[in-house]
Amino acid sequence: MPELLIRAGHVFTAADRDALLQDAWVRVEDERIAEITSGEPRAASGAIRIDAPDATLLPGLIDCHVHFAISGGPDWLAELKEPYATTCWRAAAHAHKTLKAGFTTVRTLGGRDGADPAMRDAQAAGLIAAPRIVATNLVVCMTGGHGNWLGREADGPDDVRRAVREQLKAGADCVKLIATGGVMTPGVQPGAQQLTDEELRAGVDEAHKAGCKAAAHAHGSDGIKAAVLAGVDSIEHGSFMTDETIALMKQRGTFFSVTLCSAEGFFNAPPNSVAEWAMDKAMRVRAALDDSFRRAYQAGVRLVLGTDAGTPFNRHGDNAREMALMVKLGADARDALRAGTRNGAELLGKLDELGTIEVGKLADLVLCRGNIADDVARLCEPDNVRIVIQGGRIVHRAG
Ligand SMILES: [Zn+2]
Repeated sequence: MPELLIRAGHVFTAADRDALLQDAWVRVEDERIAEITSGEPRAASGAIRIDAPDATLLPGLIDCHVHFAISGGPDWLAELKEPYATTCWRAAAHAHKTLKAGFTTVRTLGGRDGADPAMRDAQAAGLIAAPRIVATNLVVCMTGGHGNWLGREADGPDDVRRAVREQLKAGADCVKLIATGGVMTPGVQPGAQQLTDEELRAGVDEAHKAGCKAAAHAHGSDGIKAAVLAGVDSIEHGSFMTDETIALMKQRGTFFSVTLCSAEGFFNAPPNSVAEWAMDKAMRVRAALDDSFRRAYQAGVRLVLGTDAGTPFNRHGDNAREMALMVKLGADARDALRAGTRNGAELLGKLDELGTIEVGKLADLVLCRGNIADDVARLCEPDNVRIVIQGGRIVHRAG
């Protein structure tokens, strides 16, 4: 593989110190970052040179909450009735779009049985162009619970343990527990707790025992609190957050994966496109989520970028919008960028390899037109994402 020599007007490293460098050079050797310098380093003859004084180089972006099995269309339940193989091909196309948008790593949080772990392996083997995948298999929910259409229903702590073990056996890297009702399942309420405190504790314990992370889908305050106390690594959605749970999350270091894109997607849905029972719930969730986000951000809860991509009008490839929405709600652009890079890597247990631009790390990089630290919304425009590099290899070039 030829060396890469990149000169960028701005380099957002996402590292603790010197997060934003001006006019810097990054040299990539094989799959790793070999040098970061303020003057031109010596490069091998035959190195690929990229000169971009008007662009920002940043770590490959990380989305901690996607569903490749669904497309962002209005009727997810119909899509999931397709033949299994159709879903898999569709998922591969969604993954490629995500990669081209600068997302070099994702965590999938629910797909059809066996599909996401297989896709992770296909990407790792170089068979498909896709982000690196941290895979969940089926979600674990109570009987009739939210997401049972992509779920393993389990009742009682012992059954939840068994359900988690089944997902690990199927190759899951991460476990998703359904702590409350949700928008996208008929007949359940987002505010209501679903898996009990004991069931959540059993599920988290079983995941952690295997060295895996546990995520909790949680909208309502009781479910969020129960999940945080059970020791989950991330709260997904977190719509009805109390100040008490915010303080608990801050104290325990629980990550908040906000999924503003999902709420926005429902909000932007054309009239009568999405089922009315879902729209009613989505509007209540959206009204609460903005406020929960602002309070959690002010309190210093650690944020990751999680879009819930694949939910209605929340398309794969539009993932960077999550950072623009954070900024719109008052977050500093650099905090949004950190959520989309280093914090995601930390949540996924991959900070030693990914998430920042530092010597020795894997060269997952994005080159975007303009100064991103001033305006993250630039990343939402496909033409601005000029080059995407994954493991030292150029995997996408705009135009
Ligand atoms: Zn989701």
